[in-house]
Formats: sequence, structure tokens, C-alpha cells
Amino acid sequence: MVSSDLKNEKTLVRVKDVVFGGRKVVVIAGPCAVESREQVVAAARGVRRAGAVMLRGGAFKTRTSPYSFQGLGEEGLRLLKEASEETGLAAVTEVLDKDSLELALEYVDMLQIGARNMQNSSLLRMVGCSGKPVLLKRGFSATVEEWLMAAEYIVAAGNHNVVLCERGIRTFESATRNTLDLGIVPLVQELSHLPVIVDPSHATGKRCLVAPMSRAAVAAGADGLLLEVHPEPEQALCDGFQSLSTDDFGCLMPELQAIAGIV
Ligand code: PEP
Ligand code: MN
Repeated sequence: MVSSDLKNEKTLVRVKDVVFGGRKVVVIAGPCAVESREQVVAAARGVRRAGAVMLRGGAFKTRTSPYSFQGLGEEGLRLLKEASEETGLAAVTEVLDKDSLELALEYVDMLQIGARNMQNSSLLRMVGCSGKPVLLKRGFSATVEEWLMAAEYIVAAGNHNVVLCERGIRTFESATRNTLDLGIVPLVQELSHLPVIVDPSHATGKRCLVAPMSRAAVAAGADGLLLEVHPEPEQALCDGFQSLSTDDFGCLMPELQAIAGIV
């Protein structure tokens, strides 16, 4: 069960040498999408230098338009793995279906279920059976209860290594891409023993809001952050407007350290 037990013990989710739910705030950073070897290696080196402990990078993208860049597929996974091995950063990537899941199992250390697939119960069961740690994004119209039930599908299939990720929800407000629902971080930590991290990139959709909301998430007690970082955000094929440059990310890390004590 994902709900807290009486002893209130937190689940520690281990991804190689990274531990979610412990004392350290886990910072995952990298591009929205893997675009080329140069891009993902530069991103990985930059985020590693600044202190990130995991690398993100999409190879199978769920874009709103079918005409937008859809990711490099298996080639993207290969390049992500190369960057991950070169820097020693564990890698996470989103899977969309059985085929992308089977491929990703060979290349990455953690599987991401995106907001659009949060209630795809057959995909949840499949990642549950995969044995790999899972990063489960909150659906953009999901209640906390629905989100925790989605996690329950993964746990019920035998996989207890689930990290929850708040990434903003749809509200009437259109000034930001989504509305970051930060209050649910301590709430979900009360309701569940699973670690909870925050994605301020998709939650805000605006580069200038990413650092303030990252600081706020850490101050609220989030167990980690998932951040989009690109070596050249202006040239990004996907979500450049909400991506930090590696330099911006380098400035943010000491600020997080100052708030959390340990990052
Ligand atoms: C992502 O993190 O690459 C992504 C697509 O996010 P979300 O599923 O939260 O929209
Ligand atoms: Mn993105």
C-alpha cells in the first residue's frame, strides 16, 4: 500500500547510488528531449559539474501536436546512456507504451510515467512488473487520491520503488503553463510513505519562475527536483522557454543547498 503506516516510516527509493526519501534533496536535471550527442553530453557535463545526481532526457515525447519533434526513439536512449556513463549520472526517461518500455529497460536506471499517462493502468502494471524504479508524474487533472491510486497500481504489481512527482495542474489560470500545487508536497508526505519531488519546469512553463519555485519546493520539504536544463535553451527542439541554461542551473544549486542544508 502507498498510504502511510502507523510507524510513519518513509520508503527509500534507490536508483544506483542515489537515494530518494533520505536526508538529501535529489536533483535530477537535463534536457526535455535528447536531441544529439553533443547536446546531451554537454547538458550532462554541465549539470554534473553543478551538483545534479541524475540525468533526465526524453527519447519518446508526448507532444501536443503530432507535427512537433517526437524524440529520437532508441537512438535517443543510446545517447542518453552514453552521457550517463560518461558522467556517472543515473538516467531517467519517459516510457509511453510496451515497446518504449522494453527498449528503455536496456538503457536507463529509472522509468518516468508522464502526466498524460498517469491513469494508463496497463502501462502502470507493466512498469510495476519491470522491477525498475519509477518516477510517477501527477496527471494535470488528477486529484491527490487518483495520483496515489495510480502509484498503487505499480506497487500492487510488486514494484515498491515509486517516486511521486508534482508537475502542476490545470486551473483557470493561464498566466503560467500549469499551476504548481506546492501544498500537496507536505500533504502527500503525510498521506504516503513514498518520496515526493517537484518539477518546476513543467509546472510553470516559464524560465524566470523555475528558480524561485525550485527554492520554494525545497523549502516546502520536497524530496527532490526534476529540472529541464539545456546547454542552449534558445535552440532547444522542445520546451526551451522553460529550460534553464547550464549556467543558470549552476547559480541555482548553491541557493538550494543554502535552503536544504544538504543537496
Ligand atoms: C517531461 O517531463 O518530459 C514531460 C513530458 O512532463 P509531463 O509528463 O509532466 O508533461
Ligand atoms: Mn518538457
